[in-house]
Amino acid sequence: MAYKIVVIPGDGIGKEITDAAVKVLQAADKKFGLDLQYTYKDAGGTAYDKYGKPLPEETLAACREADAVLFGAVGGDKWDHVDPALRPEKAILGLRKGLGLYANLRPVRIEEALVDYSPLKPELARGVDLVIVRELVGGIYFGDRCESETYHGVERAWDLENYSVPEVERITKLAFETARLRRGRVTSVDKANVLATSRLWRRTTEKVHAGYPEVELQHLYVDNCAMQLAIHPAQFDVIVTGNLFGDILSDEAAVVGGSIGMLPSASIGEQTSLYEPIHGSAPDIAGQGIANPMGTILSAAMLLRYSLHEVEAADAIEVAVRQTLADGVRTADLWKEGFRKVSTDEAASAVAECV
Ligand code: NAD
Repeated sequence: MAYKIVVIPGDGIGKEITDAAVKVLQAADKKFGLDLQYTYKDAGGTAYDKYGKPLPEETLAACREADAVLFGAVGGDKWDHVDPALRPEKAILGLRKGLGLYANLRPVRIEEALVDYSPLKPELARGVDLVIVRELVGGIYFGDRCESETYHGVERAWDLENYSVPEVERITKLAFETARLRRGRVTSVDKANVLATSRLWRRTTEKVHAGYPEVELQHLYVDNCAMQLAIHPAQFDVIVTGNLFGDILSDEAAVVGGSIGMLPSASIGEQTSLYEPIHGSAPDIAGQGIANPMGTILSAAMLLRYSLHEVEAADAIEVAVRQTLADGVRTADLWKEGFRKVSTDEAASAVAECV
């Protein structure tokens, strides 16, 4: 049976990088006989220009029926003047809500060939291979809030953090399942020395852990985790945490990776999941054919692994990316004297050939 993939190129470099990823998926399809079928849909500024809204119903409906969604990026200066409710970036929130994307998975793996690009010393960057599993639809970002009120004669504002047991169970199960496919270690990050929600998080995580005796569980306070990511990131396998802490730690971990163009992500949904690079639409380089497509290609590998369970094909793409970099192929963002400078499309062809 054919797999249905919805491709949403979006804006800026979105078309260039999703074209590159599809080229590599087609090579994997040919080799492993996957039968992938693609439907292209609009979102972001491109959709606003055509339909007056960033997320047309038709796009969301197609995503709901798909086996997986490959997403480029949205946004750009062109739409800065647009009504905030109709800004291109609203498409992302609409997809999160419409597809029930409850978890964000961000792997950070520093390839040997790119160790020098990390801001960390090579001996600290070498061997980093971790995944941050961030809860995406709960916590303080979705709690009640008050913009302004008078309390004891002074103005104040507040945001409410809350987590329910089922919300924590769902995300921690995903973390343990993810760790089972990797090195079998989960670090749960909270602030249980201060916050009640964190104490509930910790209790619930331990209960869920009872069902995964083969996985090792460690708890870490968020301030310590932030420090450990900077001084010894190679110690981590899977980090699981709530929405707010995950937002901050995943950006810190991304910087450790060295290059924004290299990193993939998956947003896991109740039915359909969405895969996209961690960067934005890079309007400053759009249309020049120089964007680094590796983050999107690795997102396509995650799509094969997590949504289609085509593990062999996913492995083949990841190995091909590693080999291509080891062969000295570099897009402009990573190019240095002595390497082969390639366009977005040439980089994709090199990976496709390796597959
Ligand atoms: P950005 O990630 O688009 O770009 C930051 C810098 O990194 C730029 O100099 C860009 O050229 C470079 N860069 C990014 N991806 C690259 C790649 N693949 N290869 C080479 N260089 C790359 O962030 P920004 O400039 O802050 O945002 C631009 C637009 O993207 C904004 O409208 C923003 O709202 C939007 N955005 C969208 C998403 C998304 O669609 N998920 C995420 C972040 C930002």
